[in-house]
Amino acid sequence: MTDWKILLTDGLNENGQALLRAVAGVDNREDISADDLLKAAGEYDAMIVRGRTKVTTAVFEAAGRLKVVGRAGVGVDNIDLAAAKAHGVTVVNAPRSTSRAVAELTLALMLALARSVPRADAAMKTGQWIKKQLEGVELFGKTLGIIGLGNIGTVVLQCSAAMGMRGIAYDPWMPEEEIRRRGAEPVSLTELYAQSDFITLHVPLTPDTKGMISQQAFSQMKRGVRFICAARGGVIDEDALLEAINSGQVAGAALDVFTKEPPGLTALTAHPNVVATPHIGAQTEEAQARASADIATEVLAALRGEALRWRIV
Ligand code: NAD
Repeated sequence: MTDWKILLTDGLNENGQALLRAVAGVDNREDISADDLLKAAGEYDAMIVRGRTKVTTAVFEAAGRLKVVGRAGVGVDNIDLAAAKAHGVTVVNAPRSTSRAVAELTLALMLALARSVPRADAAMKTGQWIKKQLEGVELFGKTLGIIGLGNIGTVVLQCSAAMGMRGIAYDPWMPEEEIRRRGAEPVSLTELYAQSDFITLHVPLTPDTKGMISQQAFSQMKRGVRFICAARGGVIDEDALLEAINSGQVAGAALDVFTKEPPGLTALTAHPNVVATPHIGAQTEEAQARASADIATEVLAALRGEALRWRIV
């Protein structure tokens, strides 16, 4: 046992908690407010967050003994990485633990959108039989445009190939031969927009990707495209998406992530051609168990000064 103290701000699967409790004091303060986090931050050597907690400059300033922040999952856009660096705090994540879960949700969203499954179910639950209004489209033979062919995009590609889809991908950071090796045809963004029947986004939220799916992007897409986003809110301009759906340019969209979360009831979430889920991409038993074990192991390694597998800062 050490005298390390570790704060969990967004809960953590029991798998990871057990690994941490074996060596350190652990405070599980799930849903801690931003103000309470500022007050408590100074007591801890490590902090493990998911997507909800914003680890801001002010948190780093208040956290005098903090050595490491762990993200139990992939996206680190909620952590101020420049401030972490300035304060000498290590940031680690668990990049592969949730890929399968997010990819499977993406496929679920794509199928739900193609066949209006949520609308059909909602009608049945109010005693309506709206069969004639529910003619969908098949995935077989369609072109799927994948923006960002990383861990998640690659699993989506493999599964969509099994459904008989043709995969094309845009990923400016990946060599074309690697895109081909993974089974997709490398294309420019303009070609992807022009050719895709379905488009799915799997990029991180960065200054480059913020707002990248804009009004101009929608206008370059094939009319009647179906759009899926289980990446990050903020990558899509939501006003432009709503306009594109209302004009028929986009036939429908399935969204797991929103610029503001929770978004509340908005014109987009309430739209009949939109399938909306509350950021559940990584919410499977298996992904949470893996993410918690991976991040606990990595955070303990950082505290011990050992080599790290997934260091971001
Ligand atoms: P990854 O790092 O393996 O893949 C991201 C890919 O995007 C990389 O190949 C990168 O080269 C590419 N990329 C970066 N900028 C790009 C750009 N401007 N245009 C096209 N491609 C670009 O990450 P991953 O594990 O596949 O995760 C992707 C994203 O999914 C994460 O960043 C996160 O935001 C999101 N995510 C969402 C959930 C959820 O619950 N919905 C869960 C986990 C991850």
